[in-house]
Amino acid sequence: MIVGIDLGTTNSLVGTLERGRPKLFQGSDGSPLVPSVVQFHETEGIVVGAKAKKENPEQINRTIYSAKRFMGRGLSDVREWMSLLPFDFSPSTEQMIRFQVGDKSYTPMEIGSLVLKELKSMAEKATGEKVDKAVITVPAYFNDAQRQATKFAGELAGLEVVRIVNEPTAACLAYGLDKKAFGNIAVFDLGGGTFDISILRVAEGVFEVLATNGNTALGGDDFDHAIAARLAQKIESKTGRNPATEKSSQTRLIFEAEKLKRELSEHTETIWRWKPDGSNPIEFSITRLELEDWIRPIVEKAKEPCLQCLKDAGLKPSQITDAILVGGSTRVPLVRKLVQEIFHREPICTLNPDEVVAIGAAVQANILSGQISGMLLLDVIPLSLGIETMGGVVGKIIHRNSTIPISASETFTTYVDGQTSVDIHILQGERELVKDNRSLSRFQLKGLPPLPAGIPKIEVELIIDANGILNVKATELRTSTTASICVNPSYGLTDSEVEKMLFDSFENAESDFEERFLIEARVEADSLIRATQKSLIKGKTLVEPTELLTIERAMEELQKSISGNDRKLIKEKIETLGETTKHMAELILNQAVQEALQGKKIGEPS
Ligand code: AMP
Repeated sequence: MIVGIDLGTTNSLVGTLERGRPKLFQGSDGSPLVPSVVQFHETEGIVVGAKAKKENPEQINRTIYSAKRFMGRGLSDVREWMSLLPFDFSPSTEQMIRFQVGDKSYTPMEIGSLVLKELKSMAEKATGEKVDKAVITVPAYFNDAQRQATKFAGELAGLEVVRIVNEPTAACLAYGLDKKAFGNIAVFDLGGGTFDISILRVAEGVFEVLATNGNTALGGDDFDHAIAARLAQKIESKTGRNPATEKSSQTRLIFEAEKLKRELSEHTETIWRWKPDGSNPIEFSITRLELEDWIRPIVEKAKEPCLQCLKDAGLKPSQITDAILVGGSTRVPLVRKLVQEIFHREPICTLNPDEVVAIGAAVQANILSGQISGMLLLDVIPLSLGIETMGGVVGKIIHRNSTIPISASETFTTYVDGQTSVDIHILQGERELVKDNRSLSRFQLKGLPPLPAGIPKIEVELIIDANGILNVKATELRTSTTASICVNPSYGLTDSEVEKMLFDSFENAESDFEERFLIEARVEADSLIRATQKSLIKGKTLVEPTELLTIERAMEELQKSISGNDRKLIKEKIETLGETTKHMAELILNQAVQEALQGKKIGEPS
């Protein structure tokens, strides 16, 4: 059995499909929602989920939540959140984030793995079977490091992660939108603390994330605070005491505000009761309309990211075929109204918005069960793909982390006059030079018309389908000569090899660039010498002997500099040769123009 897991910032869920119907496993409290909270209790040991979430002031420093925000990130990425959270961070390492609990420290991956272990054990208890394979969802904007960290958390929990799926893709799967022939889907995900908007294109069952946007500090918690502030004013006007300024009632007020918010999602009006410390309870009649006025400025904050996302996806609102709601806060009627207003259609919300992503993960797990295991298919490519260009340098065409399926092309040219074939060498990796990347395949584009160097236009197109299979097509655009090949870019590379290649690329970035620039300078110098030699055939009869001598000397010096390693010197000599040949080039041009005026074609022997 492969289970589907939604590893959330606030809550996590695990499920499967039972006779085609989604089934989410429940914890001991009867709810499928497991708070993503881990407590290292001084006497009780590790506690995960609802019990860890229960307010326990003595353990506050020993309780870690929101670990997902830190997954696969460095300290510098997350400084803004650190001050908002009550737990400590380990100061020892600059690169890797660690939460400090007493004298021990834990990585976000370890915290994630403890939550995953809890989910695994819930699934095992419910089914009586061993569960060791899972599909785990991640936000669409997660980069490769964050995806790898999630996968690693799964492995630490004893789970083989057979696929990492984008959360919005999972939401679409839950609604069976993969069965659509074609569509542009907006997935609007508003939870307790974060907002994500993604626009996906589905075609023949394949999802492509067109754009994502959001706000990492927008969610239902902000509604609660705004509501609590208004309620405090109401209480103050009746009792003369403002509970928001009294420490003992602050938390209770927020809690009551959240309850009121839920109540008014269901009903248009309600009676809200408050018991001030040491006094009799008081009552207020509050309408949904009133509450909507309080939270409207916060709800409106979701609008801009949606418009930007549409823009980035290159779509107009009318081109959105479906809008889906995910996250508890999309139960708020005003939020639904906003979604309808932005995307010009009523959002789909027939499934429980807390469960949609987990259900989608379970659907994906079901699709994968019975298929080949041990192969991780990411929705993104883990390493960049490109082709070899002159001098052993890589021209990247598709960058790592691009979502698949994807296609991209780049145009190249020939280097030698009369070249009738080109070698296309496909490479995978992040480094600048061919020798440091992985060679995937080579093929030849033959039958090019014999043209001067630099004239043919050769378009190389890389196409990766949904299964990660790469097709490469090379076309000479003037003659439409084509050649193509099919390769599997991920085959044979283990995750640790991918990790090593990434690590090497960071380590060597600076020296790689230096070497790349040196090679590029040499290639430029070499082609300038060739071009000058060609010009000299005509030009040497046009210039003075002293000028000719200067040009020949500049060429010699450039040639000499190529064999050295001084990039700046090569660049200098390139400039000198360029300068010294300027006059000759003018003379050649003048002569060509004169010949043309006399009715001869440029290049025709005189
Ligand atoms: P999530 O992060 O997706 O679990 O969403 C949690 C947020 O959804 C919290 O802010 C909840 O207060 C909010 N929420 C859950 N149920 C409702 C409801 N019926 N009406 C309004 N907000 C809700």
